[in-house]
Amino acid sequence: MPLGGSGTMQVEEYDLVIDLDFSNLKFKGKLLIKLRTEEDLVLNSVGLDIGRVSSGESVFRFSQKDEDLTVETGRFDGILQIDYAGSIPNSLAGIYSAPYDHTHIVTTHLEAAQARRMFPCVDRPDVKAEFKLAVKIDKDLEAISNMPIKSVGQDGQKKRVNFEKTPRMSTYLLYLGVGKFETRTEKLGKTEIIVATTPGKTKLGKFAQDEARRAIEYFNSYYGLPYSLPKVHLIGVPEFAMGAMENWGAITFREVMLFVDANTSTRIKMRSSMGVAHELAHQWFGDLVTMKWWDDIWLNESFATFVSYKAVNKLHPDWKIFNNFFNGDPKVETLAGALGRDCLKNTHPIEVKVKSPDEIEQIFDAISYGKGAHVLRMIEAYLGEEAFRQGVSRYLSTHAYSNATGNDLWSMLEAVSGKPVKRIMSHWVREPGYPIVTVSLRDGMLVLRQERFLLSGETEDVTWPIPIVIEVNGEGRRILMEKTEEIVEAKGLKSLKVNPDYTGFFLVKYVGLDALLWESQLSPFDKWGLVFDAFLFLLSGRIAFKEYLEVLNKFAKEASVLPAGEISDELGLLHILVPSKVAEIAKEFHHNQLELLKDKTDENSSMLRGKVAYRLALVDGGYASKLAEDFRDYAKVAPDMKQAVALAYARSTNDFDGLMKAYRGSDSDEDKLRFLNAMTGFADEALLRKTLGFALTGEVKRQDVIAVIGSTAEKPHAGDILWSWLQLNIEKIRELYQNTGVLSGLFGSLIPILGVGRVQEVESFFNKHTMPESEMGVRAGLERLRAYDRLVKSIMQT
Ligand SMILES: [Zn+2]
Repeated sequence: MPLGGSGTMQVEEYDLVIDLDFSNLKFKGKLLIKLRTEEDLVLNSVGLDIGRVSSGESVFRFSQKDEDLTVETGRFDGILQIDYAGSIPNSLAGIYSAPYDHTHIVTTHLEAAQARRMFPCVDRPDVKAEFKLAVKIDKDLEAISNMPIKSVGQDGQKKRVNFEKTPRMSTYLLYLGVGKFETRTEKLGKTEIIVATTPGKTKLGKFAQDEARRAIEYFNSYYGLPYSLPKVHLIGVPEFAMGAMENWGAITFREVMLFVDANTSTRIKMRSSMGVAHELAHQWFGDLVTMKWWDDIWLNESFATFVSYKAVNKLHPDWKIFNNFFNGDPKVETLAGALGRDCLKNTHPIEVKVKSPDEIEQIFDAISYGKGAHVLRMIEAYLGEEAFRQGVSRYLSTHAYSNATGNDLWSMLEAVSGKPVKRIMSHWVREPGYPIVTVSLRDGMLVLRQERFLLSGETEDVTWPIPIVIEVNGEGRRILMEKTEEIVEAKGLKSLKVNPDYTGFFLVKYVGLDALLWESQLSPFDKWGLVFDAFLFLLSGRIAFKEYLEVLNKFAKEASVLPAGEISDELGLLHILVPSKVAEIAKEFHHNQLELLKDKTDENSSMLRGKVAYRLALVDGGYASKLAEDFRDYAKVAPDMKQAVALAYARSTNDFDGLMKAYRGSDSDEDKLRFLNAMTGFADEALLRKTLGFALTGEVKRQDVIAVIGSTAEKPHAGDILWSWLQLNIEKIRELYQNTGVLSGLFGSLIPILGVGRVQEVESFFNKHTMPESEMGVRAGLERLRAYDRLVKSIMQT
């Protein structure tokens, strides 16, 4: 079997013993690396205190520069020993301490390039190796890693836990957790599914555990390959920058995504199910077969995203989970998020050249997840589900325990389907942006024209190979549009729909054909598309506010939840930007929706009711006061209504102390987040400042500070206060999230909202405060800000 390696260097095995000082958050490491190199060895290492590098009797000289540890081995083939020491920061990356209830667990998050903070290694996804891990820990602690425990022995005052050796895998997938854990175990065949939490919480993991069992069953059959490790842990981590992470056999979750009980909202329950399915999808696609380099991270993320919707759709057909794939949570996975992000000039191709860790962290975004996933959906629709599945299955079995690229997948899909997958996909993954297809009628023929769509209102002549379905008089035809203009015969045209169910990743603009469109049978996805495209046309200046409102009017009493929820979101944003012009429209729409939802009991309607009530609490003071009365018996409020009730209470009472008491009295993260969100809705400015101040006292989980900032931004009239607070506290916030890319996403959505009316001030602030870890998000945010600012000016003139 060829060894994993790059060029002149190959690693076979890491044999690592970590001697952990749990209370003082320090460790000593003894690492044996079995490797072969043709020249001096270069490993990655950050923040580690390297003591001695040796092999048998030979001791090697070494030097450290930036993130590289160079060892003067010359040509070497054997086992290298490195003795070193490290400390464990209270952060969110590498090996870190996650505090809870005045104690902590030690946990790891090594993606993308953070394994080097735990042990010196060749920290690249394509250099796979086997890992033999052992930890020395206090006797009252437990340890979890990717593989089951092989043996536990006595080692002085401590115990030594030895784990089974892993299969060949990438460094970023290694996991170590140490602390007091409670577990619950279930079995699927021989596979153990173990929920691990801090003490007293495993009962909250039953839902996720059931979902995991069913999702593994689904993937075993979908991929045509059984899950390959003896067990999988689902671990609740008290402080976590991401939603979840697919460490092979030891998946970590933010607690709010793992814990479900009777108090959990539908939105979070769906998030939990989706998160479990997503990370399990990675156990094959990502862990068993890994991208060669981070350029292809999208392949991991978009694939896991796409198939997690397929899995959950199978597990819960009543949820109609593909609604969330269009517009839902998390935004980075959605079509709305991807189309909204990729219409900026400051976008990037799906397959993007990245070098520095700062760059890598920032591409876990709406392009890598959402656009990639929607392009996969487009290609699946073009090939057919079964051909797609077979191609994927062959790809996985061919490249198991190794690495592959997008091209390897296209080859398999092409071989199975006989269609030109490479030609289509290479264009879609390498070209930034996406097309708008204009449809008009000329001499009884349909004329389709494509060009690049940009939010700035400009256009660019780019031609994509677009698989398009055109539905004429209810009958679909499939074409591959490879030119700028395509002419399609359309005799006896009575109804017309282009890109039904929005399977293609492009916008459609009908010119003079609206009547034919309204004659078609419109699915909820079609309706969503009409509303969403209209919003992008408005933002880019392609249509006026009046025309946009005419489109909304068609859906004023829309009964399907996807388009209705979309309109609610759009009006919500417009209400923040131009409250005086939108408040009445938003009020009327949302009251109509409440009425329509009155007797509906399904979970999607219940979720929409919560959203509608929340938006109404922001625009209608009378409604807020009435809804606030339910806060007295908050425990009895339906889970999907709790957020709206808490917000309504905050807005109509300004009871800071009452909400703070509720916050401190709750032990559920979801409830705590509901109260924090409510407190960012205080109408009293002094109280809003107090809430923002509270977010940085250390009492709010580090992972949740951005949620406080984000929910402040979505409150009308909070912009001035948030902007001045942000400028004062920017360095503190950066400190909280160092070595993660999460602020990039935050700034991308925050800047355009905060900056309206003070564009130059905001631009000059961010030009002065350069932040390499958020550069991409800041640039995108500033570009979007110019579009919002232009829109606000134009609406104010009407
Ligand atoms: Zn993922």
